[in-house]
Amino acid sequence: MGYLVALDDGHGMKTPGKRTPIFPAHSGLEGETKQGYMHENEFNRAVVAKCKAHLERSGINVLLTAPGDDDPSLTDRTNLANSKGADLFVSVHANAYTGTWGSAKGVETYCYPGSKKGRAFAAVLHKYLIEHTYQVNRGVREADFAVLRQTNMPAALVEAAFMDNLEEATLLVSDAFRSECAEEIARGVCEYLCVEFVEETIKKPDIRPTVHKVAIAVNGKLIEVSGFMREGNSFVPIRAIGDAAGTPVDWDINSGKVILNSVVLKTTVFVGETGYAWAREVAAVISHEIEWDGGTCTVNFKG
Ligand SMILES: [Zn+2]
Repeated sequence: MGYLVALDDGHGMKTPGKRTPIFPAHSGLEGETKQGYMHENEFNRAVVAKCKAHLERSGINVLLTAPGDDDPSLTDRTNLANSKGADLFVSVHANAYTGTWGSAKGVETYCYPGSKKGRAFAAVLHKYLIEHTYQVNRGVREADFAVLRQTNMPAALVEAAFMDNLEEATLLVSDAFRSECAEEIARGVCEYLCVEFVEETIKKPDIRPTVHKVAIAVNGKLIEVSGFMREGNSFVPIRAIGDAAGTPVDWDINSGKVILNSVVLKTTVFVGETGYAWAREVAAVISHEIEWDGGTCTVNFKG
């Protein structure tokens, strides 16, 4: 049999008013829609879908209170959960303060006033959201919301971030934040039910290319700053090599390019304040040979 958890993606795609303000032009946001704003339901439904996968992997049955594009009434949603005997009810939302861009931000989790189980459940979800999303903590709150009042089981409503805060709206459209919220809600549900959260076996692909640290030597003498390898190419700190090889390093303020030995480097990458360039280009520019020692991951520049 097992547990049954009702997941509610508050509102529908066409629910009037439930959306972000219009994003500033050309903000280039991931998930930015053609009409220039995000429906609240786009966030809610994405989180619910991801959360469902986590719960089912962990052996918990999931009931979606509004699986399609429609916006069933709140009573339809709670009646469904009650009639199926759901053990918990979670409603996922994004918040709004004024509806125009403002500064209200953070996560809040709601329970029904005076409900001990509801508060305990909301507190567990909130704990995970606070620990892992870096959202401002607006606390566990009580509210007489229909989905909290009409449900027979412990129920919580999560307001993950504010749609009318530009910084948080950029989170709400991002797949990473949606994934994070879904995972934390699922972890909270599992903790509340004393069910082990089963980790994903296929890890999400790392969005950064694989990076390994690389030691650097000039004429056999190790320098203190290290470089890195990315997809088989070594990148080395330009300034440190220039200094060790006695080669001038300049910076062209107009173009933002690094000039090594009077040559403008083409492969510069900045990590923080430090400029790196492809080891082969640096070697060519300073007329050195490159030796690669795979055993110690060291690039040696020989002049
Ligand atoms: Zn909402």
